[in-house]
Amino acid sequence: MANTAVIKNYIDGMWQDCVSGARIEVDDPATGETIAVIAEAGPRDVELAVAAAHRVFRDRVLIDMHPYDRGRMLFRVADALEARHEEIASVNCAETGKGLDLARDEVRTAIRYLRYYGGLADKLEGRSIPRGANLVDYTVRSPFGVSAQIVPWNGPLELTARSLACAIATGNSVVVKSPELAPLSGVELARACEAAGVPAGAVNVLTGYGQTAGQALIEHPDVRHIVFTGSLATGRTVLRSASERVVPCIMELGGKSAAVVYSDADLDCVVEAVRIGTFLNAGQNCNNLTRLIVEDSIADELVERVKVRVEGLSIGPGRQNCDITPMISQKQRQGVERACQEALSQGARLVTGGTVLSERSGYFMAATVFADVARQSSLFQKEVFGPVLSVTTFDDPLMAVELANDTDQGLAAGVFTRNINQALWTADRLWAGQVYVNGWYVGGVETPFGGVKQSGYGREKGQEALDGYVQTRNIGIQISQAECGSVSSRPR
Ligand code: NAD
Repeated sequence: MANTAVIKNYIDGMWQDCVSGARIEVDDPATGETIAVIAEAGPRDVELAVAAAHRVFRDRVLIDMHPYDRGRMLFRVADALEARHEEIASVNCAETGKGLDLARDEVRTAIRYLRYYGGLADKLEGRSIPRGANLVDYTVRSPFGVSAQIVPWNGPLELTARSLACAIATGNSVVVKSPELAPLSGVELARACEAAGVPAGAVNVLTGYGQTAGQALIEHPDVRHIVFTGSLATGRTVLRSASERVVPCIMELGGKSAAVVYSDADLDCVVEAVRIGTFLNAGQNCNNLTRLIVEDSIADELVERVKVRVEGLSIGPGRQNCDITPMISQKQRQGVERACQEALSQGARLVTGGTVLSERSGYFMAATVFADVARQSSLFQKEVFGPVLSVTTFDDPLMAVELANDTDQGLAAGVFTRNINQALWTADRLWAGQVYVNGWYVGGVETPFGGVKQSGYGREKGQEALDGYVQTRNIGIQISQAECGSVSSRPR
């Protein structure tokens, strides 16, 4: 083990051990070896963190700060991350297993979120509502209070940064529950907040298991806002708890994103989209490209091209920047293996992959492509969250759109064609929160992101995200004309 010092939780501006003394071991997914040990937060640590965050809210520490200063504070957090960019990318790479360049991108993206929302902190305005001579009426966009933020392991730094930045920009205080499988990036963000002089208690970062620390956090009576990013199954649990106290939630859940490929598409572009969309980070992205819906006439050629490309991908640890990096855990990989076996039993044709790479240490899974995937099959319908692509064919555009939309999820979707009319017609009909044309992951920090249907609701990223972190309050003022004398001034 590289470093045996126990990493603590960041509560009320201090690095605190957990009350129980319990520990979580963090593995390197490329080797299975323990790379760090972190204090396991439980309900009593959640209590301390929420108390600190609630105090910051009650004392109006962030609310009364000039919004420009809240923004400058976020810039300083970004600067602190930037100053240690390479070191933090290595930590992110080591704990998630993703490629080092991808981890560097993640740090850059986190920095961009902090600067983007820092810049917007002083631009969130209310309205003045005309109501005649005797009334002055305006709206203010107020924070909710303590925002509980539950984060998954696949993008632990950028997903934490995007929610935290919105919350602080709008005057909420934050308690983050970092993912137990990849908690070190959240620790780095907490260090950056500390270095930036974020007031004690405004940002608290805990690592614990979902069913203990996570559940205690969402059930806490002083939590007034929840941002949940994770699976549909856990999302339902979070929503049930939130409904008890009518706590508003932003739900960023899973996907089963499809791309429609017309016969006139640039197939090199499609193959590249598959490389990044399906296989980066071992397919562990919520909006990854999981289903190709391909026009009959080009299906064989495209499947062959994809097969050749996929079989040429390098496999190895993220620190070597290989194309196919390990999955996060043995459990996650077993789930993908099961999904592949089920696909075979339901009649899909295996084009390549389908097995674990057991000759390697760590949690590697072969890049996998299935063709002839039926729309009723589990592989077509259910999120796998691994390096698995399914191919299904169509023979007319209406059928293509119907197939693409035929799941309970709707996070991202795509269309590949050289015909702009076909592209726009299809993009308009793909029922997903974000649609890509002739590429994949075409969105950015400034573009609103989130699901339709069971992929969730509320938006992260872009200016729309701020709307989810404030509630409009209205203030009406009655004016007594009697005290103002007779009406003497008229507009001219
Ligand atoms: P998960 O649902 O298992 O865990 C997510 C987080 O919830 C973890 O921090 C976990 O500890 C916590 N948790 C678990 N049980 C809890 C409970 N009872 N109460 C409170 N918190 C609890 O998901 P995962 O496996 O970590 O992440 C993968 C999933 O996340 C995929 O479905 C993926 O599509 C989704 N995801 C969505 C987005 C998005 O922006 N829409 C982004 C990334 C990942």
